[in-house]
Amino acid sequence: MDRRAKTVRHARRAISRVVRGMPASDGAGVRLTRMIAQPALPMIDPFLLLDAFRSDRPDDYTAGFPPHPHRGFETVTYLLAGRMRHKDSAGHEGVIEPGGIQWMTAAGGIVHSEMPEQEDGLLEGFQLWVNLPAAHKMDPPAYQEHSAEAIPVERRGAGVMIRVIAGETSQGTRGPVSQPLTEPLYLDVQLSPGADFRELLPRGHNGFVYVIGGTLGATGPDGEPRQLGRDDLGVLSQGEELALHTGSDGARFLLVAGRPLNEPVARGGPFVMNTKAEIRQAFEDYDAGRFPTRKSS
Ligand code: MN
Repeated sequence: MDRRAKTVRHARRAISRVVRGMPASDGAGVRLTRMIAQPALPMIDPFLLLDAFRSDRPDDYTAGFPPHPHRGFETVTYLLAGRMRHKDSAGHEGVIEPGGIQWMTAAGGIVHSEMPEQEDGLLEGFQLWVNLPAAHKMDPPAYQEHSAEAIPVERRGAGVMIRVIAGETSQGTRGPVSQPLTEPLYLDVQLSPGADFRELLPRGHNGFVYVIGGTLGATGPDGEPRQLGRDDLGVLSQGEELALHTGSDGARFLLVAGRPLNEPVARGGPFVMNTKAEIRQAFEDYDAGRFPTRKSS
């Protein structure tokens, strides 16, 4: 290969690790699969946590997530099936429906509940936690909420369908969610049997793929083939071009990437700050009722 050809070639992103989800329970006893924020994978900066929930057994989810606080980061809920009602202490309320996204910037503090709006049937979706830089952890809370109809779909030939939730694809489809602090890309990709998928990701971004269903073929760091199935998470190596493919059963997966913050991370339950002192302060503020509450006017 001559040097010129080499310079235009984009560095390949491999799947450096494949991590299996860990069964967990959270809220008032919701059963879920913890993908990020487990011993095998504490975080992928700036992503602090990824939970997947998928159940048609009401006992697994009806207890929901009664009122609880957050501070210092963003919670991102993406539903594939079922309905989830969200309500916060400042009077904000809404229902997330299938295909809808709620990107909540908790920042300085929010107290909210997240309760399934159903007594039976399938509930399926994901919650991702995205960190905020120190300088913005105490900003006022904000929401970016979009229903399925507001999420653009990019089709590449017959075999590739991409729902663009956040960020912009290499072909210029831009999702409704933007967050300049971490420049996240959040794609829901469906591949028909035999389809290939290539995407250029911003250099320096950390990223992962999470397989919702089917089988995803990729390459490891030494070019060796890697196969990922349902509930496998593949951590991406640095580089630019990601090349994936699927076999006879097709695949559906999330592709998520973001700019790392490279800051110290201190966790305390629903709070994620930079220092332990800031975590103590968050608990003190919450106990003293200093989190935002509905104005009585
Ligand atoms: Mn929450």
